[in-house]
This record gives sequence, structure tokens and C-alpha cells, in this order.
Amino acid sequence: MKMQIKLILLISVIFLLAVIVAAVVKKPAAACGEKDFRQFLSAYEAKVIPLSKEVALASFQASISGTDEDFKRSAGLQIQLNKITADPVEFARLKAFKLGGQIREPLLERQLDIIYDSYLENQIPIAQMEAMVTLQAQIEQKFNTFRARVDGRTLTDNDIEQILRTSSDSLQLEAAWKASKEIGRLVAPDILKLVTLRNAAARQLGFADFRHMQLKLSEQDPQTIENLFDELDVLTRDGFSAAKKAIDGFLAARCGVAMEQLQPWHYQNRYFQEAPVIYPVDLDVYYQGKDLVQIAGSYFKGLSLPIDDVIARSDLFEKPGKYQHAFSSDIDRSGDARVLCSVKPDSYWMNTLLHEFGHSAYSKFNDPQLPWTLRDAAHAFTTEAIANLFGRFASSPAWLRDMALISPAEAQRVAVPSRDALRLQQTVFSRWAQVMFRFEKSLYENPGQDLNRRWWELVEKYQLLKMPAGRNEPDWAAKIHIALYPCYYHNYLLGELLASQFLYHIAGRVLKADDVEGQSFAGRPEVGRYLIDSVFKPGMRWTWNEMIERATGEKLTAKYYARQFMGGK
Ligand SMILES: [Zn+2]
Repeated sequence: MKMQIKLILLISVIFLLAVIVAAVVKKPAAACGEKDFRQFLSAYEAKVIPLSKEVALASFQASISGTDEDFKRSAGLQIQLNKITADPVEFARLKAFKLGGQIREPLLERQLDIIYDSYLENQIPIAQMEAMVTLQAQIEQKFNTFRARVDGRTLTDNDIEQILRTSSDSLQLEAAWKASKEIGRLVAPDILKLVTLRNAAARQLGFADFRHMQLKLSEQDPQTIENLFDELDVLTRDGFSAAKKAIDGFLAARCGVAMEQLQPWHYQNRYFQEAPVIYPVDLDVYYQGKDLVQIAGSYFKGLSLPIDDVIARSDLFEKPGKYQHAFSSDIDRSGDARVLCSVKPDSYWMNTLLHEFGHSAYSKFNDPQLPWTLRDAAHAFTTEAIANLFGRFASSPAWLRDMALISPAEAQRVAVPSRDALRLQQTVFSRWAQVMFRFEKSLYENPGQDLNRRWWELVEKYQLLKMPAGRNEPDWAAKIHIALYPCYYHNYLLGELLASQFLYHIAGRVLKADDVEGQSFAGRPEVGRYLIDSVFKPGMRWTWNEMIERATGEKLTAKYYARQFMGGK
């Protein structure tokens, strides 16, 4: 193992020297017109397109199997891909194209901006980049293969969530919750190493810290995002505080404890990121014994967004060693999108399936005429918005009715409690997203602080949960996003805002309907056509806010989210 690392280091040093020599010997050509850039692009695409596909396939395979071999192969390919964009000679050429100011054709200019940023991120010593990729792969594998243990029994994440949702026995809840946090201790030291490496890389490239770099390179201004989170904090604070009292009253009675004795494990979810079920509507019963995959497939077909090919290539059910979260992967930007998840017949997984297939549809129905570089979502959060727009329908009585899963009478009966539950869900999620956003900010600003304490300070402030007495564990490290999807979580909340914006636009302008909440889009091909033309096909042709403005008539706004969930106007 040690020998291998030494060998990799040696190879890296030789590679770096070779690159430097090459840089000195053949000085970058001065020519930086559009014709030259087109030549650069063809060479770039010839290298990157096939390798990106290999990376995506290998990573998908590793997520299914969880084996050392597959993870090593996947990390190795990722390193190869990063090495392309780490090339300092090519980066110098990209810089010259930018400074030269001759690239004016809009699609060329847009490609230049995006490719430049992807190179900038990797302008660090190869060994440092490799160390980060390797460490990240190690952490990922630990998450993949970790299974909580309670009383000698091995539990999957699904089992843990099942206990937290259904048990009212405080001791059992505590044991399950604590067991699920054990992964934190296993990965925390590696995460801290990774944070240090990420910050060092960002500072070498001239950013304040890694988080600033991540946001800026994804065309988000850190201050603008923070302002939006402050606005959302104000918007949700009172409503959440009132809702939390109702939740506490309900849970205390349910679990037979006094309200002040409630602990984080009483909230029916490992992180209190989902709302506990406190309203008299149990959506899970509608999905029992149903074929969720088939339901999702026929729904998307009705939208004229057929995904049968996506379903056929996906890996949808639990397996030992398999990654326990869900994702959609765009394998080749040419129609091959696939989903990985662990479906069970309940509302959570119906939501997840619709969510992930929403991502897949965004990928699949891109514009094959666009250059490869631009054939991707306008931003990570714009694809989250589409995913959320569909995922939310899993708890919509109108959708259940239109998909013939419940009768019109039943839909009417549960309309009010379902709406209340959806509102509660958004409020609860919004407060949780505050914790994640502010913790990551704090983590990258000062990784040396007492992070275990910092985590609970934020949980207490935004989620109004009490830290269990005397607890001093890296509970922050148990949340997989901190390690593997860094400084990304805020995009989920932005995705919720935009999902509401899309919903109001589609209901009002595309379907010309007054009743926004009664819409399910089921059997409405015009919705699919609108999404393909206004959202999917444009890809990265425009910056995200320009796409949103063109698609909905307004830039990103919290207005519709507030109207839908916070009773705003
Ligand atoms: Zn998603």
C-alpha cells in the first residue's frame, strides 16, 4: 500500500516535470481567435468526452457493488480526467483566449467561460489533487459499506428510518439514532484532512477558502446566497417556531414523555430534515403493494417525457454493499441517463423516484445540437428544481387521484391535512438547510474550531432541537454531503424556491389554470414540451438566472415559495 503511494507520488512528480518542460519548450501559441479556439475545443472534446463517459460508468458501477476494485478503478479514471484540466499549458492558452477578447460568438464565449473555470479548479499540484480524489473515494466507500448495528443486528439506512418513523419506544429510538451516527466517528478524521486539502488548494488559486471557490466557480456569489438564506431565515422563523410547538406536543404524547424531555431521536428522522407525521394523513398506505417504478414510468410518459430507456438502465433496488442514497447520473450527455436508488413501496421512495427521474429527464431531453460542454443543466440547483417539482407530487392528493391511486372522494378528504403536511415539510426542511449552509460556511472558515459543538449550536438555533446531555460526537460528519458533496446543500433549498416558481408559471401560463395546488400535470404533454423547450434544451447556453428569466419571465425569487408554503402573497 505504502509502496503504491510512493510510486504514485513519483509518477506525479515526473508528470509535473514533463508538463513544466513542455511549457518551457513550446511556448503557448499567440493565436487566440475564434478559429484557434475551435481547434482547441475539438482537441479538448476528443479527450474529455470519451473519458467522462468512462468515469460516469465506473462511478455508477462502484456505487452498485461497493467493492475495493470498482472504487479504485473509478478514482483512477477520475484522476485521469482531472489531469486533463490540470494541464498548465492548456490553462495558459485558455487564459490567452479570455484576455485576447476575440471570442465573441455567444456559444463559443460561453464554452470558454465554463471550460476556463473547470481548468482553474485543477491548477494545483497533481499529487495534491490525487490525494483529494483518493481520500474522497475512501470516505465514499466507508459510507457505502457502513451499516448501523443495534443489539448485534445490522441495519440499513432504510431500517433505521423505519424504526425512527414507527417506534414510540424512547430507548429503541435512542439506540437506532445513536447507531446511525457511528459513521461520523469513522469518517470525521478523513473529512478534516480533506477540508484542509480543499482549503489549501482554494487558497493557492486565490480564493478565500474552498467554499468561496466552489460557489464562485459555479457562478454563485457567496454574499448573494447568504442574503437569500438570511431572508429565508426571517421568512420561516415564526412559522417554524409555532410548528415546532405543535410537533413537540404531538411527539411527547405519542412517545409518552414530557415535552422538555424530547430528544433528537424522537423526531422521526436522523436529522429532523423531514417533517414528522403529525397530521391525520398516512400517505404510505396509498403506496403499499404498488409498483412505484411502473407508476413513475407511466407518469413521465403522460408528460411526453418518456423514460422507459432510463428505467431499463437503472439500478433501483437494495443490494448488499450498495450506496444507500439515490442519484441520477448523466452518463454521456447523449441520452444515457440512469438512476440508482433502493425503492420500497412508500411515499418517501415515490418522492425520490419522481425526483431522480426528473433529473434524468433533464439530462435525457437535452439539445443534441448544442456543443457537448453546454449540454448540461444550467446549474445544479435548476436540475434540483425540476426534480423537486416532480418529487413533491408524491404527497399531493391531486396527483394520487390523477394517477388512480386514490379515489376523488379520498383526495378531497385528505386535501387539507396533506397541504398542511407539505407546508410543514417545507418549513422543517428549510430550517435544516440553514444548519447545513451555515455549518459548511463555518467549517471552511475555521476547521480547527470545536466542530462537534458548532454543529449542535446551529441545530439548536435553527431547528430548535436540544443536544443530548453531554454529547460530544462528530454528528456533523455523519451527514454524507459534508464529505462528498461539499458546499452544495444550499442548492437544494434554491431548488425548492425555483420548483415553486416553475409550478406557478406552468399552472398559470402553460396550463392556464387558476388552481395551482390542484395541478398534477398528469397526462399533460404540454408540460413536457414546455420543459424541453424552455429548460432542458437550453442547457448551459445561458447563465442560470438568464435561463430562469427566459423560462418564467422573472429572475429567481423566493416569492412563489413563500406563497405556496408560508402563506405569503
Ligand atoms: Zn436531486
